[in-house]
Amino acid sequence: MQSKLPKIGTTIFTVMSKMAQDYGAINLSQGFPDFDCPERLREFVVQHLNDRKNQYPPMAGIPSLRQQITNKVKGYYGCDTDPETEVTVTSGATEALFDAVQAVVAVGDEVIVFDPAYDSYEPAVQLAGGKTIHVPLTLPDYGIDWDRLEQVINSNTRLIIINSPHNPCGSILHKADHDKFAALIRDYDILILSDEVYEHMVFDGMKHESVLGHEELRAKSFAVFSFGKTYHATGWKLAYCVAPEALTTEFRKIHQYVTFTTSSFVQYAIADFMAECPEHTRELPDFYEEKRDLFCKLIAPSRLKFTPSKGTYFQLVDYSAVSDKSDVEFVNYLTQEIGVAAIPLAPFYESPPATKIIRFCFCKDDSTLQQAAKILCAL
Ligand code: PMP
Ligand code: GLN
Repeated sequence: MQSKLPKIGTTIFTVMSKMAQDYGAINLSQGFPDFDCPERLREFVVQHLNDRKNQYPPMAGIPSLRQQITNKVKGYYGCDTDPETEVTVTSGATEALFDAVQAVVAVGDEVIVFDPAYDSYEPAVQLAGGKTIHVPLTLPDYGIDWDRLEQVINSNTRLIIINSPHNPCGSILHKADHDKFAALIRDYDILILSDEVYEHMVFDGMKHESVLGHEELRAKSFAVFSFGKTYHATGWKLAYCVAPEALTTEFRKIHQYVTFTTSSFVQYAIADFMAECPEHTRELPDFYEEKRDLFCKLIAPSRLKFTPSKGTYFQLVDYSAVSDKSDVEFVNYLTQEIGVAAIPLAPFYESPPATKIIRFCFCKDDSTLQQAAKILCAL
């Protein structure tokens, strides 16, 4: 049988987490916390489960959750949304990204991604019959190469996928970047898919710039967010997409046949938690900044070189002083023989550069970070 995705294997996150488990390594690879979600949130889940909220919720998500999302994006980004026509709850950001691509990309359309690009983007484009155009981020700061972007934009370009805070690089986009995107696509029929799942993990006094806060981009964008990241509950697979009515109409045509809707009692629980505990998201940047600072302080004496992340819960490190191995070989060695699992960057590139950089995840208990750092400092 001919594969529809001949170049795609198992995602690197699954490969590395399994390797960590098989070899008993500390897992700083796949991005998920090793601490639990808030107790109050779990209480709400149990309450709604026992309240028999166990049948199909509405296709677009329960009204109270969509209303909370509307309140939230107004509060954080000053953006007015209609929860009826512009907000859709999905089964993870992965589903939202997939739905948005299927909704607007047709055979022959070009979709621009910035490498290293999160690994679910390209397969979604391929399955829609589109062509992915890879524009590498600039080194060493992982910014946008505006000249290169301008060169590849043409009348076949349908979608540009942006991601800030950026996984795996930890870089962030600023308002000036959004202004440049807006100017570059002004004369074309181009949409933006903005992956903002790490919106509450921005450090050093900076603030997250959402496309929802940019009037011109907001009118042309799907903005995707994940409750999994925000509430330390990646296993619940609950997320949402905010887009103008015309885009949301097309988005829901896909969503209704991919999953139709998303787990009921978890939606009720998150809606209640958002209403009762708004401080959770206000406190999140500091919570993760402390983890970043701790991890960076702990690995500072090692031979790994790094610039602290500006956002996300990932830290890139350069291991060139330690090994000549390729990044894939090095993470295999690190996991199997040293006892700490990480993520290589090569799988996120069309043409990987010659850099020796890997990604560690620091959304872990302090004791886990201490244990891992001790091993890394002995490298
Ligand atoms: N986009 C990025 C950049 C991510 O890192 C992730 C996963 N961690 C997702 C999307 C998918 O999020 P979810 O788990 O909600 O599907
Ligand atoms: N986004 C997570 C990461 O970057 C992994 C998600 C997944 O495994 N699908 O590690």
